[in-house]
Amino acid sequence: MKILTLVFLVLSTFPMSPISAQDVPEEPTPTALPVHPIPTTVLVEGQVILELYFESLAQGQVGLAHISGMNLAGARASFLENVFDFFPVSEDGYYGLIAVGMEQSAGTHNLSVVVQYLDETNSTIITPVEVILGPFIRQEITVSEELGYLIDPEVERHELAQLESIFSTFTAEQHWDENGFRWPLDAELTSPFGAFRVFNQIAASRHTGWDMRAQTGDPVTATAAGRIAFAGVLDLRGNYILIDHGYGIYSGYAHLSVVHVTRGQEISAGEIIGQVGSTGRSGGAHFHWEMTVNGEWVDSVEFTEMWIPQSVSESADENFESSD
Ligand SMILES: [Zn+2]
Repeated sequence: MKILTLVFLVLSTFPMSPISAQDVPEEPTPTALPVHPIPTTVLVEGQVILELYFESLAQGQVGLAHISGMNLAGARASFLENVFDFFPVSEDGYYGLIAVGMEQSAGTHNLSVVVQYLDETNSTIITPVEVILGPFIRQEITVSEELGYLIDPEVERHELAQLESIFSTFTAEQHWDENGFRWPLDAELTSPFGAFRVFNQIAASRHTGWDMRAQTGDPVTATAAGRIAFAGVLDLRGNYILIDHGYGIYSGYAHLSVVHVTRGQEISAGEIIGQVGSTGRSGGAHFHWEMTVNGEWVDSVEFTEMWIPQSVSESADENFESSD
């Protein structure tokens, strides 16, 4: 199922036939926009409806949930160790993204959704959700002697702690638009998300994103609009950019040769933010793209295939507060 989806995505995104100059579209080859899914679970509790758009959640996967009804003031889900704040969508209640970490063991756990009402009361809907194993491969990777110090687990622990301190910053501000999230680069996917990796036969690690075949200097674009949360150098990721898209969604861009942005900068979807390189723990030019939801590494390619609704419209926002 997973493989079929991926093959379809790759084929539909990048036609194999050569394109003549006059046929080249003005925009980069667009992926088909995800369409509004049909809920697989509908639970009615009083005047509130909880819809789930997933049957189960695989390790490293994100599921969409929807709360609708009268007099709603907000919603928040608890699943495993995480709390997920739902975001408002004009006249369509609240939507939440439920992420499962790639290290999460398989099994059935209760998803608990607390619905808040305008009169400051609340109610809770609880439903079991099954976590299933992800389709992860194993990889043996050789790191050159000069970069050997980068397979020290302590280096990785330190870097992840640094990133986690950023992911823990939650901004209740939605930056993405109706186009959702797109690939930052039109390129062939190579090494998959979640792979169990062993470096130089001793150091075990997990692949937190997808690798893409690319050349040094190829432009890298923002997967969606957001604010730069980090732009700098990390030991493993090399020259690295992290974008905060709001509501716990971050995208990361690694091993860059050039970084064009600075922390705090507002970025629009598709804007060029850097260029492909081979900095950090990298054996040659390639692009590494990763995403997190509520601090959990999730499959970035799969995430772009999801239909993710937009929050209240920009114009509505401007009526209430001026943008900074
Ligand atoms: Zn990678």
